[in-house]
Amino acid sequence: MADKEKKILIIGAGIAGSTLAMELDARGHLVTLFDNQFEHSSSRVAAGLLNPIVPKGVRETWQCHNIFPHVFDYYQGWANALNADFIHKYRFLNIHANPNETSEWNKRMVETPMADWLSTANLGEHELLHPHTSATWVHQCGRLNVSLFLDCVKTYFQDKNRFIQGDFNHKALVINDSSFNYSVNTQSESDTSFDCIVFCEGIGIMNNPFFNHLFFDPTGGDILTVYIPELKDQQCIIKQKQWLLPTGEPHTYLLGSNFHKNNLSTDPMESDAAYLLKRAREITQCEVTLIKHQRGVRPTVQNRRPYLGSHAEHKNMYVFNGLGAKGSSLCSWLSPMMANHIHSQGALNEEVDISRFNATIDPK
Ligand SMILES: Cc1cc2nc3c(=O)[nH]c(=O)nc-3n(C[C@H](O)[C@H](O)[C@H](O)COP(=O)(O)OP(=O)(O)OC[C@H]3O[C@@H](n4cnc5c(N)ncnc54)[C@H](O)[C@@H]3O)c2cc1C
Repeated sequence: MADKEKKILIIGAGIAGSTLAMELDARGHLVTLFDNQFEHSSSRVAAGLLNPIVPKGVRETWQCHNIFPHVFDYYQGWANALNADFIHKYRFLNIHANPNETSEWNKRMVETPMADWLSTANLGEHELLHPHTSATWVHQCGRLNVSLFLDCVKTYFQDKNRFIQGDFNHKALVINDSSFNYSVNTQSESDTSFDCIVFCEGIGIMNNPFFNHLFFDPTGGDILTVYIPELKDQQCIIKQKQWLLPTGEPHTYLLGSNFHKNNLSTDPMESDAAYLLKRAREITQCEVTLIKHQRGVRPTVQNRRPYLGSHAEHKNMYVFNGLGAKGSSLCSWLSPMMANHIHSQGALNEEVDISRFNATIDPK
């Protein structure tokens, strides 16, 4: 049973907060989005790659059968509603690094259900394929231009006077029996009381006193924007350990990525750019020019299962986090689930429900 309209405050307008805000707004709730607009947040840096296969070990990604049949329609729905163009389908060319990789991909490709996603890339199908290289196509891949999507959602809520920019101060939150009060100078009196609050803060959650029992294993990563004039404009993503992803601008690609375990720095380092540029030159055999270097931190969880659900004591206080390296694809499945949970107590998938920790954790 759906409740009446709720006043809902969402902290964090990354991919989690933004998709959830749209979902709850569509269910008739009065949503306010609160975000500090940190330019190096995970979602602002992310390439937005959508890929059902983990190349290492050639395996399916977790829940890919629940996600990939719908992910493009999901974001296309928001693209239509917001009148923008942020979702694109691409084939994904995995160029094998050595004969061992080739035999691994070929072995896995004939197994059910991998055959649904994979096919052999034949000589002549791509300019980077030579008689001595071999490669596999991965189908149902693409890219969400995450930053553009976030900008559109921000404008949508700004137009309703329901976007607040600033740093949320957890200590200033007043918790009542069945509501919350939070005020900043720009809010009108009527906008300081909320029925629910949802924390979607990415790694910012590590400063959140209500959910600091949730364990994170943050992973930094670099993304370059590069210019490769000699390479014919690509209609596919190219990967050989690192990947090149078309941006839509002529001869311009995103190049990534790498993993810095437990490193929270968002300051780009020249040595990381140099390594990625070298890899791009090796893959394309072309001159590659750096346009931009960004570094962000993925909100990674040790067992790679996101954190969704409500606080053990304050039932109308929720968390939606732990999206790791897969926020764009996961949100198409998890945001509707989380919205239904808040809207009408819809069930959460048990692998993501934070009530799995309640037996061992004292409520805050
Ligand atoms: C280098 C790199 C490459 C990536 N590539 C991909 C990819 O190709 N595909 C993919 O699916 N995923 C990718 N990811 C992962 C993806 O970005 C994350 O899974 C996703 O962005 C997490 O989203 P989020 O909304 O949970 O967190 P965030 O994006 O961190 O959003 C949280 C928001 O809350 C704000 N905030 C936090 N605390 C406060 C506070 N107290 N007050 C106000 N605002 C606050 C933050 O500034 C931010 O705007 C990549 C990440 C990195 C770093």
